[in-house]
Amino acid sequence: MDISVIIPLYNEEESLPELFQWIQRVMNENGFSYEVIFVDDGSTDSSWSVIQRLKAESPDTVHAIKFRRNYGKSPALYCGFAAAQGDVVITMDADLQDSPDEIPALYRMIRQEGYDLVSGYKQKRYDPLSKTLPTKLFNATARRVSGIKNLHDFNCGLKAYRREVVKHIEVYGEMHRYIPYLAKAAGFTRIGEKTVHHQARKFGKSKFMGWNRFVNGYLDLLSLWFLDSFGLKPMHVFGFIGTLMFLLGFIAVTVVGATKLYYLHTGTAHPLVTDSPYFYLALTMMILGTQLFVAGFLGELISRNAPERNNYQIETQF
Ligand code: UDP
Ligand code: MG
Repeated sequence: MDISVIIPLYNEEESLPELFQWIQRVMNENGFSYEVIFVDDGSTDSSWSVIQRLKAESPDTVHAIKFRRNYGKSPALYCGFAAAQGDVVITMDADLQDSPDEIPALYRMIRQEGYDLVSGYKQKRYDPLSKTLPTKLFNATARRVSGIKNLHDFNCGLKAYRREVVKHIEVYGEMHRYIPYLAKAAGFTRIGEKTVHHQARKFGKSKFMGWNRFVNGYLDLLSLWFLDSFGLKPMHVFGFIGTLMFLLGFIAVTVVGATKLYYLHTGTAHPLVTDSPYFYLALTMMILGTQLFVAGFLGELISRNAPERNNYQIETQF
């Protein structure tokens, strides 16, 4: 099979028939063998009955997964990825904002130009300013932290992957925003971008409007960065900072102690040790240092027991 199209959806009943028809048309025109995997993320409208109807009309092409409740776009993609069988996997939003006409070019970039992942880039975006403006900031940060310098649009719903990629990354929580980073962390570094057409939402409204997505988005990015850099060796970060702090504290305590001894020795009037700023420095530094060190050990204990501790990405083997 050439292509698996994965469509995560949450209450998109109006868009689905048109989207599916459009995909069918593009696939037939290009002679691709394909499947369309709908992942219904706990819709409360009639999305599922629409999907059932599409399945009845095209039983070989349509596959679908229905969540009992709304888990989010990432879990929906995760399950779609697990089910995908095509050589190239394409993800696409259900709201008709992404155009199926991009599929052939994306397919070629993966198969012929050797990309692991190609992300769409909505250069001209038809979304409200409240979405497009924060997105610019978000992408700039994501570029820096992830080191993927050539991507303008990390969170574009339209992406294409080599099948191997989707089978070796784990999209969870709200990590769909950072799939290119997940792929890079898993060793898939040929990541490209294609400018794609974008349209205004035709039906319904955006499912990602809350302000908390900014905070959560940055926290997720921090977590990913931490996991990528120190996930397998937490002691290296905690132990290092802990030791550094403890050393500073130790130097401070030496200064305090030595001064006190000197005063006692020379018999001059000696102030209390608590009058010295170094006393407080020593106190906090040594306590914090020890705690960080212990955090490092705990991290090591946890990662030692993590079931995925020896899941290395092996590319080939004889
Ligand atoms: N979506 C989903 N689960 C959710 C929220 C959204 O599967 O909890 C789907 C949604 O139906 C759409 C895609 O994710 O197919 C992108 O959502 P949306 O178009 O609302 O996001 P936007 O384009 O506004 O960023
Ligand atoms: Mg949308």
